[in-house]
Amino acid sequence: MTNKCYRSELIALFGNPVDENATVVIQEAAFAALGLNYRYITAKVLPEDLEIAVKALKALNMKGANVTTPHKVEILKYLDHISDTAALMGAVNTIYLKDGETYGDNTDGKGFITSVLGAGIKLVGRRVVILGAGGAARAMTVELAKAGVKHINIVNRSEARGKALTALLNEKTPTEAEYVPWAGTYAIPQDADIVVNATSIGMYPSPDKPDIDYSTLQSRMVVCDGVHNPRQTPFLIEAAKMGCKTLEGFGMLVNQGAIGFKLWTGRNAPVEVMTEALEKEFEV
Ligand code: NDP
Repeated sequence: MTNKCYRSELIALFGNPVDENATVVIQEAAFAALGLNYRYITAKVLPEDLEIAVKALKALNMKGANVTTPHKVEILKYLDHISDTAALMGAVNTIYLKDGETYGDNTDGKGFITSVLGAGIKLVGRRVVILGAGGAARAMTVELAKAGVKHINIVNRSEARGKALTALLNEKTPTEAEYVPWAGTYAIPQDADIVVNATSIGMYPSPDKPDIDYSTLQSRMVVCDGVHNPRQTPFLIEAAKMGCKTLEGFGMLVNQGAIGFKLWTGRNAPVEVMTEALEKEFEV
């Protein structure tokens, strides 16, 4: 006989496609580093099975889950509780279970802010340009507003999405937001302090970069990318040529995972271990 526990605490990732999602690498490295008997399972979940997948979290007494494309919005209706921030964004990327009930939160924007503040970039009173108005842009801008930025230009190709996010920020946060249609090459306003790519442009294997006039970037501006693979995107490379300080989406990815780790395990995440694990993975 042995008193060893052969049961593991389980965390899932729900999405589709998920085959190339490397989050498991970050989380498993963190579990191992802290000697936690946790397992992270990447699961392909189709939209019609999402409700059952959430029920499975309860049935299997799991600790929680990450949620990715295309479920971040739909998942809200299947959860018992939603954090105020996730409700405001209208998107959940992290679920944790407590007393058998599901709680939805969104760590994408928090991960971004951790990365920005960690790089010594000040946010209070700043003017920000966000390229994009999808899920990542919603998460980033709501957290930027909470962190005290003064003004956000939402630059987006689809007017409906751009205007919806602008209205959300103006109505629900103290930050002023302005929608800018993205038609042709966009010139960065000269009073901008921070420029963020929250579109999917530049994500591996695409060699593209957002259509902005790079000569309008000033060296005093900080330029951030949400895209994490490659780490040095064509967007960041061009910004660096203009002398801008740049910030990779890689840090945002690790930091959002670190916040999820704490929600599931109650332990502070070993961020360095997680970073190294992902760096190694992307080298292959
Ligand atoms: P969505 O599909 O919700 O939004 C995509 C956005 O990109 C939209 O604003 C879309 O504009 C815009 N877009 C896409 N292609 C073009 C184009 N050719 N020209 C102009 N605009 C374009 O995706 P997400 O917001 O969820 O993700 C965006 C990126 O952020 C992805 O690369 C994702 O990997 C990354 N991300 C990174 C995270 C991290 O931790 N580092 C976390 C979450 C996301 P339109 O509305 O006009 O279609």
